[in-house]
Amino acid sequence: MEIKQGIPVSPGVVLGPAFILDTESFSIPDRFIQEGSYPHEIDRVRTALQDAAQEARLVEQELTEEVGKEIGAVFHAHALMLEDVKLRGEIESLIRDQHYTAEYAVSLAIRRRRQKLENLKHQEYFAARITDMNDLERRILRHLLGHRSEPLHRLRSKVILLAHDLTPSETAELDREHILGFATEVGGRTSHTAIMANVLEIPAVVGIGRFLNEVSGGDEVIIDGTKGTLIINPDAETRVKYEQARRSFESFELDLAKLKDLPAVTKDGVRVQLLGNIEFPTETVHCLERGGEGIGLYRTEFLYLGKPEDPTEEEHFNAYYQVVTQMAPRPVTIRTLDLGADKFSSVIDPAQTERNPFLGVRSIRICLQNLSLFKTQIRAILRASAFGHVKIMFPMVSSIRELRECRMILTDVMEDLEDQGIAFQKDIPIGTMVEVPSAAIMADVLAKEVDFFSLGTNDLIQYTLAADRTNENVADIYNAGDPAVLRLIERVVVAARKNDVEVNVCGEMSGDPMYAMLLVGMGLRSLSATPHNLPEVKRTIRLISATDAQQVASVALEMVTARDVNNYLREQLRRVIPESMDP
Ligand code: PEP
Ligand code: MG
Repeated sequence: MEIKQGIPVSPGVVLGPAFILDTESFSIPDRFIQEGSYPHEIDRVRTALQDAAQEARLVEQELTEEVGKEIGAVFHAHALMLEDVKLRGEIESLIRDQHYTAEYAVSLAIRRRRQKLENLKHQEYFAARITDMNDLERRILRHLLGHRSEPLHRLRSKVILLAHDLTPSETAELDREHILGFATEVGGRTSHTAIMANVLEIPAVVGIGRFLNEVSGGDEVIIDGTKGTLIINPDAETRVKYEQARRSFESFELDLAKLKDLPAVTKDGVRVQLLGNIEFPTETVHCLERGGEGIGLYRTEFLYLGKPEDPTEEEHFNAYYQVVTQMAPRPVTIRTLDLGADKFSSVIDPAQTERNPFLGVRSIRICLQNLSLFKTQIRAILRASAFGHVKIMFPMVSSIRELRECRMILTDVMEDLEDQGIAFQKDIPIGTMVEVPSAAIMADVLAKEVDFFSLGTNDLIQYTLAADRTNENVADIYNAGDPAVLRLIERVVVAARKNDVEVNVCGEMSGDPMYAMLLVGMGLRSLSATPHNLPEVKRTIRLISATDAQQVASVALEMVTARDVNNYLREQLRRVIPESMDP
């Protein structure tokens, strides 16, 4: 039995035979054709492009119906690229003039486009498009060569898919009847693949590191998408344990669903607001079904998924309008674009990009250097604010100067809208994420100039501990329970309280019952988490008392290692909720 740990990206426990997708790319059999045989080769390529475009449109239609038009849009963009006459012309001339095979010409033409994107300034915008290019190449080659994903379409029995990587479109196309779950060697929590898995509710673990050489097709495997574990050839005892875990996960979810309309109130009457984090407008339904009382974090950068260009003001507005009106009168915190680093740039060759993108021009820095992009988005957010309860939030702010710049730009846009007689919420609450240690340290200063704080612990942890949140090799250092992180959170909570500023936590830790208990004990009264996690957090809150949690927090805050904190919190959660799902 082998146990592998990766990054959990979509919860649930599944057991089944392994199906290995180990070819990373197609091998192109020949580079050159016989002189004179190009008409046949051109016919082949035309047919492949047509078939691939038709396939992409079918997938677009299916996904639009099943999960919404944002996901469908990825395939709409693919179909447009496949139908692009310029691309076809380029491939055909490579075949005709250079005597290249259809396969090689396709690969070369796409590689050239990919390189152009990679050489652009601010490639982080284009990372999703580069992934799309890889996807397109595979799709066309599959039509020419007829393998790679083909076996996936011929599955007769239920399997667990194991791969080095899956592209977003491969993930979205997975046959949910036969693919129980998947695990990949690479990938981060916020990769498109991870998001697709979550939206489609396929249990998944990514970023496990090398494991494919240790498993064969047909081996029995277990995926625990909640804890991020892959088990290869489990022993009988483990199999029984996980079979039981699968059943209890299912009944646990059914039980939690009953809490939907009950308030998140501790046993001693302290009310905690539970909000959802979303990426796409379609997720609002999911958030409401899970009892979300509003949206605490709308990650608007996902508007870039599947888009060949920057979204227009109308595209921004339409997305926000949909979320705001569906959630009204509940609050919706719209975060301005947080592009770069882990989002939409994972496929960029590090040699071609900033040496250290997490510390580079990402997020608010990109917006402040591209004012027209920033203003377009702010206009759309303000316009949407006329239709519900909107809050605007700036990500990655690391100094009061940046915050002031953001506020100035916001004021400019407000003046423009007023001049044009366009309605918006004039007293829209303005907030900042606190996800950089400098912001946490200066929270008392920032608090004087905002209406609310949202603690982005995903980034706060990585910047405090200098441990990349997407790097599985430093996962043991990257820890929400680290005393340094807890002290920064405490500092922010105190500054917020003193200045009468609202504060919540929207990092992943707020969706973990053990940390939710700690955060309530530290005085937080608003938590925002992935909708799927909300019922479990609510259940925890309803079973603890705030006074008890406060006591737990004060003991935890005295501890000096993350291990001690985590062991202590686990123990305390078990004490209060013995049947806790925590292992
Ligand atoms: C965070 O950093 O905690 C956060 C919520 O933002 P994101 O995960 O989108 O970086
Ligand atoms: Mg962040």
